[in-house]
Amino acid sequence: MNKAESQRIAGYLDSTGYQAVRSFREASLIVLNTCVVRQSAEDKVLGTLGLLKGLKKERRNLSILVTGCFVNSGIEGLTKQFPQVDFFFRPGAYSELIGWIESQDISGAGQTMNLPVHSSPCALVPIMQGCDNFCSYCIVPYRRGREVSRPLEEIVHEVEGLVKGGAKQVTLLGQNVDSYGHDLPEQPGLADLLARLNSMNGLARLRFLTNHPKDMNPKLIEAVASLEKVCEHLELPVQAGDNDILKAMRRGYTVEQYRELVHAARRRIPRISLSTDVIVGFPGETEEQFENTRSLLEEMKFDVVHVAAYCPRPGTIAWREYQDDIAREVKRERRSKVEQLQAAIAGGINSQLCGMPVEVLVEGRKKGKWFGRSRSDKLVFFEDDIDRLGQLVKVRIEKTSPWALQGEIDDDNYPERRNVNGTA
Ligand code: SF4
Repeated sequence: MNKAESQRIAGYLDSTGYQAVRSFREASLIVLNTCVVRQSAEDKVLGTLGLLKGLKKERRNLSILVTGCFVNSGIEGLTKQFPQVDFFFRPGAYSELIGWIESQDISGAGQTMNLPVHSSPCALVPIMQGCDNFCSYCIVPYRRGREVSRPLEEIVHEVEGLVKGGAKQVTLLGQNVDSYGHDLPEQPGLADLLARLNSMNGLARLRFLTNHPKDMNPKLIEAVASLEKVCEHLELPVQAGDNDILKAMRRGYTVEQYRELVHAARRRIPRISLSTDVIVGFPGETEEQFENTRSLLEEMKFDVVHVAAYCPRPGTIAWREYQDDIAREVKRERRSKVEQLQAAIAGGINSQLCGMPVEVLVEGRKKGKWFGRSRSDKLVFFEDDIDRLGQLVKVRIEKTSPWALQGEIDDDNYPERRNVNGTA
């Protein structure tokens, strides 16, 4: 979400005549887009603000703007605490940014809320802001507020523009993307939005994240199964494999319900790839409860597991009600056990792709190789002298690891074979 918002801010500033520079030491305007989901991220924001304070002393005409989750409702307090910052605006509140830029009398400042985004083969499109769930460990609802969905037509219009600008893949974003539309007059669902975008000429792939297991419904699974542009990949955070911990986390589902959801998705879409998130060391997590999480991961065999050690966030329910009583070394040990298990599982899953052709949307170049993602979201590298940026190519996999695949281009006639109107 932050990346999508940064792209929008950059695109807007570009349209007003600003140009990106390589380092903030060369900049006349700095927009700091912050994340505070973990304490380490918040510490980084504070460190950067300290650094910018020094820079502002040296250059009085430097403007510093701060947005993202660091900016809560207490903007007045922030302004007093950080006088080096010229303007704070809430995440996604682009009208506030536009207002500030226009007040600076910079020629060409835009009048629009549809902020232009730099063209890229892979576009990120926020479809809603905020979250109503209040999981006990999470700070997001306090910083981003309650769920607000963007009107369906506005999103379709934006995607049309992105596709005209060269986007082949669109990822729809929301903190809880499954509940998209419940606050709109017509109450469209995410499945309706996907169906609408699926018929758009020029667009090749659709993705969406992040899902909440309690809100994911059969209609959405059916949409992934039947709409050919929707990629066979789901991000479905489980967080824990123990019912008591899930209850303390206020996740709103049981291990049994989660398991059934995964089975339902796999029954309908046998080749679906699944990613999940796990938190270890939640307050009071016993060795046995951790083992329940570990054995669920062993049973489910996810393609990717993002694991984090619990970290109390001031203001959250868990921070108020529970003591952070799991020692740091225990958290570290549990995290490393999950990582080791997942490396073995992902290594096994990926090795089955050896010798297979996969469709890759090329996103860029790193260390002399092209890279991109398969429909199942695997990171694929290959070598080629031809400029492949933004193309759909077929790559035959030759080498695999738990984290990425290496291969060689298989068929020069393949680009665009899965034609952009949806027929293979
Ligand atoms: S659903 Fe996600 S964003 Fe919302 S409170 Fe829970 S963890 Fe945070």
